[in-house]
Amino acid sequence: MKLATKLIHAGAEPDPSTGAIMTPIFQTSTYVQEAPGKNKGYEYARSQNPTRKALEDAFAIIENGKFGLAFSSGVAATDAVIKLLAPGDEVICANDMYGGTYRLFTKVFERFGIVFKYVDTTNAENVEKAITGKTKLVWIETPTNPLMNITDIAAVASITQSKKILLAVDNTFASPYLQNPLDLGADIVMHSVTKYLGGHSDVIQGALMMNDPELREKLYFIQKSCGAVPGPMDCFLVLRGIKTLGVRMKAHCENGKAIANWLRNNPKVAKVYWPGFEEHPGYAIAKKQMLDFGGMISFELKNDSVDEANRVLSSTHLFSLAESLGGVESLINHPASMTHASIPREERIKNGLSDSLIRLSVGIEDADDLIEDLNKAIG
Ligand SMILES: *Cc1c(COP(=O)(O)O)cnc(C)c1O
Repeated sequence: MKLATKLIHAGAEPDPSTGAIMTPIFQTSTYVQEAPGKNKGYEYARSQNPTRKALEDAFAIIENGKFGLAFSSGVAATDAVIKLLAPGDEVICANDMYGGTYRLFTKVFERFGIVFKYVDTTNAENVEKAITGKTKLVWIETPTNPLMNITDIAAVASITQSKKILLAVDNTFASPYLQNPLDLGADIVMHSVTKYLGGHSDVIQGALMMNDPELREKLYFIQKSCGAVPGPMDCFLVLRGIKTLGVRMKAHCENGKAIANWLRNNPKVAKVYWPGFEEHPGYAIAKKQMLDFGGMISFELKNDSVDEANRVLSSTHLFSLAESLGGVESLINHPASMTHASIPREERIKNGLSDSLIRLSVGIEDADDLIEDLNKAIG
């Protein structure tokens, strides 16, 4: 079945008791049992809920996986993966990843004796070199936030498979419409569902997808034991969001391309970060592993100052100044003072994140209107 069809029908069985075409919101904490131990497969809603089950089935289908698990946020999904490990285990991760993931690793899990090594994963050899006898997991993100760096998932997977190490990929920026890491050899896909999967900036949620039944059992055990599960209303909203993922992503990609090209030709713009440009160092790999290049774009101004960036950031009207991404509405963000403010300035600059860098999450409005908005703001 083609993806556009899967997105509409994934996980959606008519409700057996009424025929309702949409999965009902099972707003219940418990289920009445006929006799002790005799139930219909549902005992308590932390362990299972029919709305969540429909969504988890959908998650598996849209990432070409066998199993899906839903969590109360993206970081809760990441947290569950790290809880597969034990003190002394080592994780190799990208040196350019989502700030909340970095915070979870350094500020929470390091205290529990898990060791994180940060390498430039855009070169898969760096991953191989960092592996020791204690390495249990490789954690990558591609494209990255906000510099749109690309890692070759298949190349990293061939290394992790030969060493019998788990590979987890944060696929949030691409969404399952553009990239399917399980097909490329990853063991676990993680999503901040909050972004493209939900798609309407109205829910916080996370997901894990996988193929190995044993791995699914371990992660399900962590899900129900640690309890970071989403409520049924949020699951319903995401089931609805997934149905339009295909049409939304097409529009995000089309608008992204138009705006990236417009920015590149703007004399006040110094540099545009978008993996669809042939001169982008990850272009060939992005073209190989992604269906299209997405609607996330970062750019630097020729006038590289925080003041000038702030002026532009407070002058747009259609682009709302906010953290997050992946919704139908366009957002503008200043990584240096917002999403990446916790990283010291020197460290930021060293990693290529300049003071004037502006990140756009291009929505699905009309591209002409979005360009006019940016044109007025950049001036
Ligand atoms: C937002 C985000 C997360 C965290 O997800 P939450 O739903 O906010 O907990 C993780 N990775 C990436 C790439 C993100 O953009």
